[in-house]
Amino acid sequence: MLLRLPTSLSEAQRYLAEGAVPVGGATLVWALWQRDGFPEQAMSLRKLPQANLIEREALGAAVLLHQVDDRVPDVLRRAASTVGTGAVRRTATVGGNIVGSTLRCLLPAALVLDARATVLDRDGTYETDLTDVVAKRHLLLGIRWRDPVASGYYKAAGEAGGRPPFVVATAVHADGDGARRLFVAVRDGYEVISETTPCHTGVEQVLQSLDRTDLGSLPAEARDEVRREVTAILDRTTGS
Ligand SMILES: Cc1cc2nc3c(=O)[nH]c(=O)nc-3n(C[C@H](O)[C@H](O)[C@H](O)COP(=O)(O)OP(=O)(O)OC[C@H]3O[C@@H](n4cnc5c(N)ncnc54)[C@H](O)[C@@H]3O)c2cc1C
Repeated sequence: MLLRLPTSLSEAQRYLAEGAVPVGGATLVWALWQRDGFPEQAMSLRKLPQANLIEREALGAAVLLHQVDDRVPDVLRRAASTVGTGAVRRTATVGGNIVGSTLRCLLPAALVLDARATVLDRDGTYETDLTDVVAKRHLLLGIRWRDPVASGYYKAAGEAGGRPPFVVATAVHADGDGARRLFVAVRDGYEVISETTPCHTGVEQVLQSLDRTDLGSLPAEARDEVRREVTAILDRTTGS
């Protein structure tokens, strides 16, 4: 297998056209490749500047999970810090987690940030939404969002090999005209549900409005976790 390490977008585009398969830290693909055979070419983005950004409003796909620190909003930092073990976080990448993993702990966090994905294909780079990236497994360069007023992340305790732990991500965003919106995303099993609602109306009305969405069909215990997280973030942001 030839490992390509592009340092520019044009180089990455060339390798993509040659059929190079994206690889992050290989924490998932290595075992698959050993079993099914290695691709002729793989491409890591670890030398590509655009894929290594860690900023208040941007995170590159080649960034390792243990490098995701308080330069990014709380919700993303905390999501990354709960993935797997320290050894996994020192090797696995943001791109591998969002596009390649089935658990995708980073996805609910990115959804509540209303993040947009920057992807590369044979025609160049473009922006798209995260559901499109996950469904079509585009080559992800990174994600961008607007800094929220506040954000939060909760992951239930899980057992190794058991059902994926329930996750609730929340963020409050200010619109241009000063109005605020709450974004909530949960991972229930392997399914991710994401909803948004205005949040100037008071906690009870916000909770009722969320109950009328798909979040209202969650099991009672999960709904309680959502209520707790939503109440906490609204308490923290009221009057700020
Ligand atoms: C012990 C263990 C515990 C784990 N626990 C958790 C957990 O709690 N939560 C969780 O979310 N995950 C968990 N994972 C999964 C972990 O998040 C993934 O292993 C990791 O994120 C994959 O990252 P990687 O960079 O190693 O991807 P790789 O193994 O390199 O690639 C995985 C897939 O993603 C594709 N890919 C990689 N980068 C890109 C890119 N930039 N654009 C498009 N496609 C790309 C590859 O082509 C491949 O198909 C766990 C894994 C292990 C081994």
